[in-house]
Amino acid sequence: MVAAIHSAIGRLCEQYPGRLRALGVSVPGTVSRDLRLDATNVGWHDVDLTALWPPTADPKPVFVAGNDASLAAAAESARGAASGARVALHLLIAGGLGGAVVDQGRLLNGASGFSGEFGHMPFGDPAIPCPCGAHGCWGTAVDGTALARHLGHRPPRDPVTYARRIIASAVAASPAAVASGAPGDFPAAPIAADAPVFVTGPADVPTADARAGTPASVDAGSGAPVSGDARSGTPASVDVGAGARVVVGAAAELGAVRLVAAALGRGIAGLVNALDADLVTLGGVGADLLSAAEDEIQASYRAGLMAIRRGSPPPILPAALGADGPIAGAAEEAWSSLIPHLA
Ligand SMILES: [Zn+2]
Repeated sequence: MVAAIHSAIGRLCEQYPGRLRALGVSVPGTVSRDLRLDATNVGWHDVDLTALWPPTADPKPVFVAGNDASLAAAAESARGAASGARVALHLLIAGGLGGAVVDQGRLLNGASGFSGEFGHMPFGDPAIPCPCGAHGCWGTAVDGTALARHLGHRPPRDPVTYARRIIASAVAASPAAVASGAPGDFPAAPIAADAPVFVTGPADVPTADARAGTPASVDAGSGAPVSGDARSGTPASVDVGAGARVVVGAAAELGAVRLVAAALGRGIAGLVNALDADLVTLGGVGADLLSAAEDEIQASYRAGLMAIRRGSPPPILPAALGADGPIAGAAEEAWSSLIPHLA
């Protein structure tokens, strides 16, 4: 990856001699002040980002590299949904959760440059290990791996694509049901006849099509069909041993999305209590969850807020810059660093 980017930058230097003045790089991990990258979710450790610099460019470009969530936070404050906020909290859910605080327009980087690793606060289940080496990290309770765990699926290779598929399935199954009800309750509302139906269990995702009249559920252990019909809107459940039951059918996606949304809202409450932010923006899968299950997020958020904040809770908004947030932030930071050199 480093070699490919290095050679792409080299081609730009040849194409525009003397004109490449600044580089802004967004990466999905922590970046130290000496530009070493660690991205535990993808297995990159101690990567030297200065190897991206073009060796022969003259003048030597200003080089800025930062964590994607931190850069997205900077961009949201500069030109997005957090513009004008005094203390803005931005949270980005991809594989895990990252974020940053922007105080009066200034991104807080921390003493080492590692600030904003909110996904590694122990707001999650203490039994769940995190790729970072800790247990109980909040990020493991709010991303695609959390949805997979609730549904009894294997950890997804691409937790973002997986999460979006599950959230879309939940919304398609019953948009009205997703937008109301208590966290953890499964919907009584009818499930759309054309909704995809999945079966939860330790096996990978067997599917059945309610439209085709095939059985909508199978035993999670043996694979044998069990009672329950997604077409009737009545979710079936399967005894999986040890007293546990797994809900099958499209309702399972709704339940999983609600549980993850509630875990997200609880953690946001903790951060707002601690940081006294006046605005919270959500990017990545966080924006999808806000769209699909805002009531669950708001209910657990308000329940977790200190009483003095409940009269006027800081709003939770979707990021305005969407997927462009991290790279827009990299450009903002590169410009900010370059401007003093232009005087
Ligand atoms: Zn962690």
